[in-house]
Amino acid sequence: MDCLFCKIAAGEIPSDKVYEDEYVYAFNDIEPAAPVHVLVIPKKHLQSVSHIEDADAEIIGNIFLAIKKIAAKLGIDKDGYRVVTNIGENAGQTVPHLHFHVLGKRSLQWPPG
Ligand code: 5GP
Ligand code: ZN
Repeated sequence: MDCLFCKIAAGEIPSDKVYEDEYVYAFNDIEPAAPVHVLVIPKKHLQSVSHIEDADAEIIGNIFLAIKKIAAKLGIDKDGYRVVTNIGENAGQTVPHLHFHVLGKRSLQWPPG
């Protein structure tokens, strides 16, 4: 599968790893939009939330458990942080492998653009 984030999760393309377990890989975004900007991805290739199947429920649950651990590890859990996933063209998804942006260590505006 010719997918950038599959290759990052497999270690074929280098990344700044923050967390890894059986289901999940997390690494620092190459163009951070906040002092903390981590991308949390499933090791299994899933294109976006719109492509998740019932059988993927365990993976998705483990992504959010990983996000909680990462937030505590990076010290953003007390002050707060944002979890964002872009789906498709209108949301500006640029990499077609499901990923959750974890943004923190600054005040974040709402609503997003
Ligand atoms: P999207 O726009 O699809 O929601 O988010 C894709 C994110 O992946 C962007 O924030 C972008 O900076 C990040 N990104 C794209 N290519 C790479 C890469 O090769 N390495 C890392 N660490 N991040 C990347
Ligand atoms: Zn992929």
